[in-house]
Amino acid sequence: MRTGTEGWTFVVAHIIDGTPPETGEGVRIDVDPEHRAALSRAHTACHLAALALDAALAGSWSKAVPTDALGSPAFDSLAIQQSRITPHHSVDIYRIGKSLRRKGFMVTALDDLDAVTDRTNAQLATWVGAGGPVRIDRDDDRLSSRRTWVCELPGGSTDIPCGGTHVTNITEIAGITTRSPPARSRAV
Ligand SMILES: [Zn+2]
Repeated sequence: MRTGTEGWTFVVAHIIDGTPPETGEGVRIDVDPEHRAALSRAHTACHLAALALDAALAGSWSKAVPTDALGSPAFDSLAIQQSRITPHHSVDIYRIGKSLRRKGFMVTALDDLDAVTDRTNAQLATWVGAGGPVRIDRDDDRLSSRRTWVCELPGGSTDIPCGGTHVTNITEIAGITTRSPPARSRAV
């Protein structure tokens, strides 16, 4: 669902124990800096992994489709079903269905998932080695303003809509490794 969709209100929610404060009551929020840093590293790594996966699968399309910020066919944004970020981890679930096939994705590209994973990880290692500044651009200061994740990579600057927290440079991450799931959890 995109922000601005009619009938939907987008809010930031904080889950708390106990009685919720009254409207207008002052509250204090403490951020655990270590926890946030671990989420930030995972979140930046998640975006980089998506771009690296797009690049690893760039030759697996028979038709022209929308591209990502670096010019690869946008496998991640076309196939992503769920992305969940936890400290130092991100689990991203893709749906390889009829609509992706119709767009020209050649499913045989995934027959050798280990090879795809190796290409993805090699690209990630290059980016981690090179480093690159990361920032969030936003239209204005409203809580609901559109935010964009901008990362300067050797191949260009990214422009991924994102509401999360991030590192300020890829050099804050020691390494990024993706793994494909064991065969039994790959739903057909
Ligand atoms: Zn994000």
